[in-house]
Amino acid sequence: MDSADQFRFTHLPHAAPTPAARRAELLADPGFGRVFTDHMAVVRYKEGQGWHNPTIEARAPISLDPAAAVLHYAQEIFEGMKAYRAADGAVVMFRPDANARRFRESAERMAMAPVPDALFLQAVRELVRTDRDWIPEGENASLYLRPFMIASEAFLGVKPSSEYLFIVIASPVGAYFSAGAVTVWVSEDYTRAAPGGTGAAKCGGNYAASLLAQREAKAHGCDQVLFLDAAEHRWIEEMGGMNIFFVMDDSTLVTPPLGTILPGITRDTILTLARDRGLTVREDAYSIDQCYQDAAAGRLKEVFACGTAAVVTPIGRLRGRRGEIVIGSGNGADPVTETLRTALIGIQRGKAPDPHGWVQ
Ligand code: PMP
Repeated sequence: MDSADQFRFTHLPHAAPTPAARRAELLADPGFGRVFTDHMAVVRYKEGQGWHNPTIEARAPISLDPAAAVLHYAQEIFEGMKAYRAADGAVVMFRPDANARRFRESAERMAMAPVPDALFLQAVRELVRTDRDWIPEGENASLYLRPFMIASEAFLGVKPSSEYLFIVIASPVGAYFSAGAVTVWVSEDYTRAAPGGTGAAKCGGNYAASLLAQREAKAHGCDQVLFLDAAEHRWIEEMGGMNIFFVMDDSTLVTPPLGTILPGITRDTILTLARDRGLTVREDAYSIDQCYQDAAAGRLKEVFACGTAAVVTPIGRLRGRRGEIVIGSGNGADPVTETLRTALIGIQRGKAPDPHGWVQ
């Protein structure tokens, strides 16, 4: 263990790890989120006892009492982050400390026991170290890490659970979207988050509530749903699983302000990379009406989505009740999006200098 490692994880041997030949087969084309590594990190919490029994063990179904609070009141949070094989072969993670902090903030919003940042980071590191042979090679491939926490107390009263399970699983993945620009459905009926609600927390309930809108998007031939604000159904917020940026004709970048949206780590990174490159960035409310007007007037040059899974994905079309608009060339090969995407991937993959110390 590193000297930085404070928690002593017990490593329980796997009875039947995946044979190397089978693993190679799975890694050749893993898709997204269907293939899993052999192990998981598990840490338990109980009021009075705190976090205890950290283990790395064989990935297997977990048993829960049918009265476990998570199954009834959705006291659950998660994170999404990636480990990569860098250009020099080293295994790296991108801003994992930011995921640890957001996980803690999500826990606080959901009245759950916060996982100390050091424990979060160590669980992730130990799992990656154990399953490092599962990190796929290749430009768009990575090991997607899914830390999550559930309320495990068996009690049907509505109150914060006194027991939690913190688990990390890992899934080798390829690109989330196939190449090219995506089409986005503007949802005018469903909203994702209201002021005072849980929009800024990464809790499962937010995603459950987004599925009907996402289904509507698919029914209209779109890849993703774009949510508007809950009060006026007017201000652009974010998509089902990524943040959104608009590039105006004077090279100004506009993105919705924090509050009811998830504070994306990629969003924050893009803001910094854009400022580093001398672009003007504004975290400002932007209405869907203005967006359609700017597109019609030719002022709106590019739109892109960003997130851990999507990285930077160009949006070629917005579709909704008020019709469809084509952004820029419509195929996504537009300059600002491309510059920022290349800059981000360069740092993540260890091919470009990392002036902000994001890669660990
Ligand atoms: N918004 C939502 C709703 C998301 O699920 C995600 C993915 N975590 C993001 C934005 C992007 O966040 P990040 O860049 O931290 O992955």
